[in-house]
Amino acid sequence: MAIKLPIYMDNHATTPVDPRVVDAMLPYFSEKFGNAASRNHEFGWKAEEAVETARGQIAKLINATPKEIVFTSGATESTNLAIKGVVEMYREKGNHIITQVTEHKATLDTCKRLEKYGYEVTYLPVEKDGRINLEDLRRAITPKTILISLMYANNEIGVVQPIEEIGKIAKEKGIFLHCDGVQAVGKIPVDVQKDGIDLLSISAHKIYGPKGVGALFVRRKNPRVQLSAIIDGGGHERGMRSGTLNVTGIVGFGKACELCMNEMQAEGVRLRGLRERLKDSIMSRLDETFVNGSMEHRLPHNINISFAYVEGESLLMGINDVAVSSGSACTSATLEPSYVLKALGVGEDLAHTSIRFGIGRFNTEEEVDYVADRVVETVTRLRELSPLYEMAKEGVDLSKMKWVAAAE
Ligand SMILES: *Cc1c(COP(=O)(O)O)cnc(C)c1O
Repeated sequence: MAIKLPIYMDNHATTPVDPRVVDAMLPYFSEKFGNAASRNHEFGWKAEEAVETARGQIAKLINATPKEIVFTSGATESTNLAIKGVVEMYREKGNHIITQVTEHKATLDTCKRLEKYGYEVTYLPVEKDGRINLEDLRRAITPKTILISLMYANNEIGVVQPIEEIGKIAKEKGIFLHCDGVQAVGKIPVDVQKDGIDLLSISAHKIYGPKGVGALFVRRKNPRVQLSAIIDGGGHERGMRSGTLNVTGIVGFGKACELCMNEMQAEGVRLRGLRERLKDSIMSRLDETFVNGSMEHRLPHNINISFAYVEGESLLMGINDVAVSSGSACTSATLEPSYVLKALGVGEDLAHTSIRFGIGRFNTEEEVDYVADRVVETVTRLRELSPLYEMAKEGVDLSKMKWVAAAE
């Protein structure tokens, strides 16, 4: 079968909406358009019923109860609500938050803002493999700590944190645990009971659902978590998040969760196979390539590779019929090396040569082979043009070279 170009392999950024999700959503645009808060007529009841079905589907995927699901506009909002909501509600208990350096910006920027308002934040470092050290976490806890916010799996390197152990520490110390579950939920088993999670951020568009809809799991017992709202008006979602519900989006989100629930296990096996195929095909044909982050504790569909002596941006341009991301951050106008790779101790030069591959539900073996071939061809060609690669191959120790600026 002919391959359709361009190939999308950036499934950590977003995923296409599954056609089965689209089908579930369609009636809710026009035929069943009611406002879920309209209590007086059939239109409202139908919408509310659909929302409650979705709440159940989402809760089931993470082993929660429907009443513990609060709908939001996406995981960025969920994380803002979790962190700001807890620190405001429990202000008298303390003002200290623990998070870590490789979190998503939704968490880091929220914590940064709270620092301006007098909260204290500890940003734990990570080990070379991308995981936090549990002893570091224990040592960081003080009598003033009210919240630990640590992600389940990282969006760049796919590294999975020891959440169950973290949950145990949080419980033992009586501190709430918020977890950014965006990259993990629907991909690997996430169980808020077993993992001891009190608040969990989820997003529909990372699991083959629509953009602009997400949820926050808020634990109701053992312990009950209370939140101050950050959006007021109308008291929807038990007062935690006002605003008319995005019924169509929520229906799609629920369907997406149901599909993940049923297919996650088989899909994980298939995607892991494709990921290994991609990695082996590339790394067996190219020297001076390095995997970033733990292979053992990693999402099945992620691989992040540094290609020494090749600028990631040049590589991206060379494989312009393949959509992947580079290890240079698009967070600002200037090209910064990814803060995640930096935190692992990857040097600035090598970080700029890194590519993230995120394999997804709709990728095929043929596509994986095509991508591997394109990467190998392009890296080989770029290295042929690289004097540094040439010198390294001739045995010159580049770290000992003295660089002299050319005279004007
Ligand atoms: C995408 C992502 C988010 C943000 O989710 P949105 O729904 O797009 O706001 C947060 N955390 C992680 C790890 C992500 O990958």
